[in-house]
Amino acid sequence: SNVRKSAFVKSSTRVVDCPPDALPEFALIGRSNVGKSSLLNSLTSNDRLAKVSREPGLTKLINHYIINDNWHLVDLPGYGFAKAGKNNREEWLRFTKDYFISRENLVSVLLLVDSSVPPQPVDKQCADWLAECEVPFCIVFTKIDNRKRDMPTNAQNIRAFKQAMAEEWEELPRCFETSSRTGAGKSELLGYIASLREM
Ligand code: GDP
Repeated sequence: SNVRKSAFVKSSTRVVDCPPDALPEFALIGRSNVGKSSLLNSLTSNDRLAKVSREPGLTKLINHYIINDNWHLVDLPGYGFAKAGKNNREEWLRFTKDYFISRENLVSVLLLVDSSVPPQPVDKQCADWLAECEVPFCIVFTKIDNRKRDMPTNAQNIRAFKQAMAEEWEELPRCFETSSRTGAGKSELLGYIASLREM
């Protein structure tokens, strides 16, 4: 499951502009600032990868990266519903739903959740929404190294998030605990991706 090679493919503003859907792909989503770019760089051991396509402004882009010449990692726009307001939220849902529904080669979504803050309702809503749309996904807790002073520990935040999900669901999705700083959880996550690609 090692990443030997990684490269930026293209940025698309619409699903129809995405690269052909011939390769299995895995899509990263999460709140803005959750550590999505850092995780992408960490998974690929390529510190400059995520920056290649970064554009200023509020442009919503679907960024495709090709890994080992045979699968795609996809960076979808971050969400931040609280600040952004209802219209922005609906726009994000419409934009990403279109992607989820039309990408036949989408194997699994990686929903990133910041473990250094208490559970955020918007992340739970996003998980509920993915389950409703029957999109396969796992949860990737980020920044497990990032302990905030006078705050609940990351382990407590993670436990609380899982408890909130367990209240409604019979079965929890696969969960990973990661840090892009220390590399924690990286091989487990790459192992998960490899196991699904081989199915
Ligand atoms: P994005 O907006 O989701 O792409 O998030 P970034 O990858 O740009 O990261 C947002 C901020 O969180 C940056 O200041 C990163 O340095 C920091 N960050 C990301 N991942 C980690 C991590 O694993 N540990 C710690 N301590 N900080 C992180």
